[in-house]
Amino acid sequence: MNLILIGAQGSGKGTQSALITERLGVRPLASGDIFRIAVSQGTPLGLEAKTYMDRGDLVPDDITIHLILDLLSGPEFAPGVILDGFPRTRDQARALDEALPRLGRTIDKAIYLNVPRPVLRERLSGRYVCTAPQQHVYNIKTNPPRNAGVCDVDGSPLVQRTDDTPEKIERRLRVFFEQTIEVVHYYRAQHKLIEMDGNLPIAVVSAGLLEALGVRPDYVA
Ligand code: AMP
Repeated sequence: MNLILIGAQGSGKGTQSALITERLGVRPLASGDIFRIAVSQGTPLGLEAKTYMDRGDLVPDDITIHLILDLLSGPEFAPGVILDGFPRTRDQARALDEALPRLGRTIDKAIYLNVPRPVLRERLSGRYVCTAPQQHVYNIKTNPPRNAGVCDVDGSPLVQRTDDTPEKIERRLRVFFEQTIEVVHYYRAQHKLIEMDGNLPIAVVSAGLLEALGVRPDYVA
């Protein structure tokens, strides 16, 4: 199964991706994580991407499309993928549609986690991530760690993302509702869209998602 997860920052994409990849036996591919790794390694790609990420803007399509399609052709994604954060523009979606047949694949469904903007603001301002590579996500108001400032899973310190400042949050949400929302329309027109109310409890959203994908409640890949 090849899926796309669309949602604004703070909509719970990362959390749902982790929950359903496990159940479906597919691999997650999160474009934001790929860029953050490149930035932390100081690669030429990372240095270029950083200038856009620091502003809360999208990295240009020519860089992003090439990078993600290249990764997607790797054997680890052959059993299936959940794309998290890509495509984010109509041109990225078109490029993906053109490239997938060459890999003998096609997108089965695009899932949109719909969350109102004020809720997204609230969630992002309370978001903390751990410093381990998995970046486990917490929220000081709605999903706090057992011990303040420490990840429940691996004990690493919790930090706020550098792009979770109020100005950058506003900028990123505007980019989502102006540009990425186009991707929702794109997959709706292809009759591939599953729209979920992302403002429900995490377990309710993932159960609804699996049901919409036709996965039996007891199925584990
Ligand atoms: P995210 O963690 O998904 O919010 O991504 C963090 C940042 O990486 C975004 O604000 C963009 O600057 C960049 N980015 C991630 N995915 C894409 C994409 N598909 N197209 C362009 N830029 C992206």
